[in-house]
Amino acid sequence: MRYRTVIFDLFDTLADFVRDRLPTIYVDGKAIPSTTAVVYPLFVERYNHISLETFYQAFRDSFDEAARLREIEEREVSARERFTLFFHKLQIPVTSDIEPFLSSLLDAHMACIAEAVHAPPEHVELLEWLRPRYQLALISNFDHGPTARQILDRTGMTSFFDLILISDELGQRKPHAAIFETACQALRIRPHEAIFIGDSPGIDVAGAKAVGMAVIWLNRRGEALDESIPPPDHTVTRLQEIRTILG
Ligand SMILES: [Mg+2]
Repeated sequence: MRYRTVIFDLFDTLADFVRDRLPTIYVDGKAIPSTTAVVYPLFVERYNHISLETFYQAFRDSFDEAARLREIEEREVSARERFTLFFHKLQIPVTSDIEPFLSSLLDAHMACIAEAVHAPPEHVELLEWLRPRYQLALISNFDHGPTARQILDRTGMTSFFDLILISDELGQRKPHAAIFETACQALRIRPHEAIFIGDSPGIDVAGAKAVGMAVIWLNRRGEALDESIPPPDHTVTRLQEIRTILG
């Protein structure tokens, strides 16, 4: 099969989120990499009665709750909504005069996340190699569209793609069919004309297969595939191996 379009996942496929690159906080004597290290100092300027421990617990709880909502409601929960959940957990009503403050915390958090993302140069070279051969696109589950786009700009990847679709901007996330179908409509292709490359069985492999796309599963750690997941068309352990499939 000759594909017209190659569609990539972003995180843990083209670029790595390196948790250890986050700054460190110490909670109960334990070193934890967390954006709390930059967000909490801004927060206490306004709410100095809230301890680091209380802040961190609420910050984690809001993260878990956003993940739970994403699962049960099959939609993206934006970073702003997650921060609103976080404020609620600290009994702080999000009124219009709080909004700019919330935005400044969100910006600090996202800048910290963006700095922890690393795109290996060989992945950019791979896109260079694919560009004359295929139409290229990217579909990413991420809760803050501007940050995902900034990461793509900074790593020199933006210009390779005919389409960049971030779940935060659509409201729906992989594995929902809507995000794959929206991409196909925008690219003017049918799903079977595309091959999708991603690292997550439940999100990338299951989602793309369900709409009729071919899939390359990037299985870096040699994990077994759960029986509930439709088998991918190809499996690679390093992204560069897709050259032999797409060459
Ligand atoms: Mg991924």
